[in-house]
Amino acid sequence: MALTDFRPMEERCSSCLGCKWIPFDKVKSLRFGENCPSISYGNFNAYSARGRFVLGLALQTGDADLSETTTEVIQSCMSCGACDVACKVTRYNLEPLDHNIELKAHAIAAGKVHPEQKKIMDALSKEKTMIPGKSKADRLAWAEGLGLKDLSKTKGEVLFFAGCKYSYDPALTPHARAAAKLLLKAGVDMGHLGNADMCCAGRALQMGFKEDFARSAEANIKAIKAAGVKTIVTPCSDCYHAFKRSYAALGLEIEVLHVVEYLERLIAQKKITFTKKVPMRVTYHDPCHLGRLGEPFHPWTGKEKKILNQIHTWEPRRPRYNGAYGIYDAPRKVLEAIPGVELVEMERIREYSWCCGAGGGCESTHPELSAWTAAERIFEANSTGASALVTACPWCESRFAGVKDSSGKTIEVLDIVQLVEMAL
Ligand code: SF4
Ligand code: SF4
Repeated sequence: MALTDFRPMEERCSSCLGCKWIPFDKVKSLRFGENCPSISYGNFNAYSARGRFVLGLALQTGDADLSETTTEVIQSCMSCGACDVACKVTRYNLEPLDHNIELKAHAIAAGKVHPEQKKIMDALSKEKTMIPGKSKADRLAWAEGLGLKDLSKTKGEVLFFAGCKYSYDPALTPHARAAAKLLLKAGVDMGHLGNADMCCAGRALQMGFKEDFARSAEANIKAIKAAGVKTIVTPCSDCYHAFKRSYAALGLEIEVLHVVEYLERLIAQKKITFTKKVPMRVTYHDPCHLGRLGEPFHPWTGKEKKILNQIHTWEPRRPRYNGAYGIYDAPRKVLEAIPGVELVEMERIREYSWCCGAGGGCESTHPELSAWTAAERIFEANSTGASALVTACPWCESRFAGVKDSSGKTIEVLDIVQLVEMAL
């Protein structure tokens, strides 16, 4: 699609500004009622999904151009999708998130690439990773000695896909190893992609680099099919979303599971049992790409239709991704199964979760916005009285680590796999 394809949506947005808030019947306090980090930080309507629809239209009518200011607005979206699910509370036919990403693609096509985006995309092109400075040759060092099969040499039905962040970040690789060990010990016969292992490129798509994403996805799909893989299991929420939604849109039909879903299954089957108490009060952060953006893909082909020659709609109706069917229960069931763990919820949870601040490449392109976004979540986590913030995404985990909230308080940040390990 091109920006011109979104013009009916740009014209149909009703300026209700519901995209700036979690739905009013879910708001528990004004302090935690907002949902979009970009508008909350930028404090100017252009940063909201509504403002982005206005900007998209203005770029097409010639009332705006890709200036330094408008480009900054476009690049400051974390692609977290909070506006998208909020809009769909009352609307079924607008796709604010797809539009935000198309605006980014429009800017990129016009040569407006942020220097930090360039570094990331150079790393993807040269070393097949989203993490600048890391080498393809070291990609599988995290898995040494685990006994995972090399699916580039032998066939296998279950692929364990660690993703870039878990593969390279020394603070996180132990969690990927622990997750793989848990599954192997429970009897899951699985492997990695060996020499063919590379970035899922989901982050490239979040930043608007659609062609680069498609090229990487094609290479991954080829390797996955050649290995005979039937199930992909990943501990990374970004990879989960990429395979489950974006690769499915390219035609990959395969079971995709996040590690928390597999752990929930193994706990229910008593293949993982707990022997120790973990006396902790914790709160759980729903990662955007596992939660509201983790819904299954629904194919759609249809066309725009005008009613009374002015009201835009689509025939048949487009599938409605409202975030309700993301992965929310599995991590909570895992936490509830751990003896001694008490789960206390934040105000913005499930499809109305607040972004960690790492999405859409903003951690690199907009470090102040990203850090403020993370601090807001730490403040919300601390307000529950929990002693630790648990999550199921390496990007969230690394974004939150060490961040102080506005009162100067940090919180212990844990991978859900760490808690499982503590109770074995
Ligand atoms: S994007 Fe949706 S929620 Fe936001 S102003 Fe437009 S119609 Fe309302
Ligand atoms: S995707 Fe997230 S950051 Fe971007 S406009 Fe929507 S709510 Fe704001």
